[in-house]
Amino acid sequence: MTVEDQKSYVFQAKIDEQLPNVLSGNGIKIQVEKDGKVTELIDAMTGAAVGALGWGDPEVHKIMSEAATVTSYSYPAYIGNKHAEALAKFYIDNSPKGAFAGALWCGSGSESNENALKLVRQYHLEKGNIKKTKFISRTTSYHGFTIGALSISSNTRAKNFKDILLPESQCLKMPVCYEYRNKKKTESTAEYVQRLLDNLEEMILAEDPDTIAAVIVETLPGSSLGTAPPPAGYLPGIRALCNKYDVLFMLDEVMCGTGRCNPNGGLNCWENFLTVEQGPDIQTVGKTLGSGYVSIAGILISPKVRNTFLKGSGKVFGAHTYSGHAFNCLVALKVQERIKELKLTSNIFKMGNLLGEKLTESLKDSPLVGDVRGIGGFWSVELVKNKDTKESFPLPLDVCHHLQDICFDNGLTVMGNQCCNVDSGDHVSLAPSFIITEENVEQIVQIFTKSVNDLQKELI
Ligand code: PLP
Repeated sequence: MTVEDQKSYVFQAKIDEQLPNVLSGNGIKIQVEKDGKVTELIDAMTGAAVGALGWGDPEVHKIMSEAATVTSYSYPAYIGNKHAEALAKFYIDNSPKGAFAGALWCGSGSESNENALKLVRQYHLEKGNIKKTKFISRTTSYHGFTIGALSISSNTRAKNFKDILLPESQCLKMPVCYEYRNKKKTESTAEYVQRLLDNLEEMILAEDPDTIAAVIVETLPGSSLGTAPPPAGYLPGIRALCNKYDVLFMLDEVMCGTGRCNPNGGLNCWENFLTVEQGPDIQTVGKTLGSGYVSIAGILISPKVRNTFLKGSGKVFGAHTYSGHAFNCLVALKVQERIKELKLTSNIFKMGNLLGEKLTESLKDSPLVGDVRGIGGFWSVELVKNKDTKESFPLPLDVCHHLQDICFDNGLTVMGNQCCNVDSGDHVSLAPSFIITEENVEQIVQIFTKSVNDLQKELI
């Protein structure tokens, strides 16, 4: 094929296949062109859980045009900017007091996790613990597509790239917490949680605690497992083990954080499960931070980690050209301030939980729906071949992406995901914008339920 014959010049997704083209966005809707036809969709997934303020917000456009006039670029290794400072201060001030003491801004969730892994390793070096080099993350996790982030991930994608990853001996995996499938019938939830925690402790001891650098968990897993909320005691139990063995506790809130699932009108998802004393040592964020208007993500640092660096070398090793980019930080700050002013995190928590309740009710008799789970603005529906045995559909059928396509044709965006390294099969996620109304909830439930019924007809 010559360059002139190519259908597409963007080298990503399915090469030389033309994807639908987004034309514009307006509130909770997007206009998309597919095969020459323009359709309007309710954007129930906001890309990959990115949207918070809704699309095409005129206030944000104004903010962006003003930001372009009052910012200039600087290289963060030797000239900082007040907007990166202000955004860090905003995040710290709007988290529980004492949770965080610093932030490092970068361009994507993968980049955040990649940097966080490096900060974890430097933290232990600063303390003279040179043997603490191993990460423990979870089976069926997703932390991004850069090599480090992919190495601590453990989903289908990581499996396909096994040969280019960091050594498995450095990136250990503990079983994910997945009550729907992995809790034994004879076990209570508390016993299941204890089994997982015992398993983690055994792993730390077997590997030698002096070699373990961090335990890394998605507070609410997103594109990996489909929003399986951690049961009571699970995250506090991990935190206690981290304290016991001088291991850093790192949470990935790239997808579930920055207001999507906070019960108090704030930012962090972990506030559903942990006190400030139990909070993470390091946390990564992204997606809704810039609400799709700017490419921004970041790492939040606890006072403990900051103080260790300060007492040690006093330096963070490395700087990216676009870290703490002034324009991106200013727009993200204004977006966050607007979300706060409009009380949109409270709205998404309330409306999202309503969406979850209504989906559960509307899909309860569907033979295809095994589980509906989530918190606040982040929900998933797990599709099963047999509801009683929880048998999954054969993976090659790719039922989740088929449902994604049916929803698209019915006027709704959702995101399908398959996990093939535990028997979790297919699930489909929803993560709407924080501006969602009760009427939008009804529309989403109606279209989604119709789409599941359409899928059922096809599968029979
Ligand atoms: N971490 C989690 C939990 C994610 O869900 C994602 C993306 O979906 C990432 C990290 C990677 O973020 P990005 O795609 O911005 O690199």
